[in-house]
Amino acid sequence: MKENIYTIPINDAFSLDTECPICEFVKKEETDRIEYALGASMMEPDARIISNEKGYCQRHTSMMYSQGNRLSHALVLETRLKYLSDVISKLKSQTKPPKRIPLGKDKFKDNIKKNGEELLSSVHTCAVCERLEYVLDGFMDNLFHIYKKDAEFRNKFFLSKGFCIRHFELLLRYSIKHLSNEELYSFVGKLCDLEQSNLDRVTEDVEWFTKKFDYRYKDDDWKNSKDAVPRGCMKISGFIDAQYDE
Ligand SMILES: [Zn+2]
Ligand SMILES: [Zn+2]
Repeated sequence: MKENIYTIPINDAFSLDTECPICEFVKKEETDRIEYALGASMMEPDARIISNEKGYCQRHTSMMYSQGNRLSHALVLETRLKYLSDVISKLKSQTKPPKRIPLGKDKFKDNIKKNGEELLSSVHTCAVCERLEYVLDGFMDNLFHIYKKDAEFRNKFFLSKGFCIRHFELLLRYSIKHLSNEELYSFVGKLCDLEQSNLDRVTEDVEWFTKKFDYRYKDDDWKNSKDAVPRGCMKISGFIDAQYDE
C-alpha cells in the first residue's frame, strides 16, 4: 500500500521496538502538542479560546512547566486565570440570595447548581487531552483501514510486541466498529495470542529482575530484565516517561 499522510504515522509507530506502538504515537503527538501550546497556538485566536476555556490537566501543566519557557507559560496562565475569575464573577452575580427567605429558595439552589456545573465543566477539561483523544480516534480508524487493505501491515501488526493493556482494549473496541464478523473472529484470536505471549515475556523479565535481588542469583546475567520495570509499567498503564535504558 502506498504511503500517505494517514499511513506514515501508523507505519512509523509499528516500526519501533516498543511495548506499545500506540503509546509511542500518543507520546509524539503529546510532545508536539505541548510545544504548540507554548508556541504557535499563541498566534491563533481560536486556539487561545480553547486554551482559556479548557485549561490543562495536572500532567500537561507539569509537562508545560518542565519545558522551562516561563514567558510563554505565563502568557497561557494569564488568560486562563482571567477566564476562571470571570466564570466565578458570573457564578456570584447569577446566584444572588433571594431577598425574602424562604421565597425563591429552590430557584436559588438551582442557580448555584447550574452555574457550579458550568464551572466544573471548565476545571475537569484539558486542551491537550481533548486534542489527543481526537487524533487517537483518527489514528485508530486509519489503522483498521490499513489493516483491512494491506497484508504487509497485517504482518507488521502481529510481529509487534503487543500493546499496553489500555490500547489492547481500545483495539478491541475499534475492531468491533471496523471489521466484519469473520475478520473480527480471526483478528481477536490473533490479538489475544499476541498480547498474552508478550505479557508472559514481560512477566518473565520482571520475575528475573526480582530474582537478581536474591544473593543466589547476584552473579548471573541480567538477561533482558534490566529495564523490566519501566517496560512492565508501560504494559499495565501506558506509562512511557521512564527511560528504557535505566
Ligand atoms: Zn499503549
Ligand atoms: Zn491533559
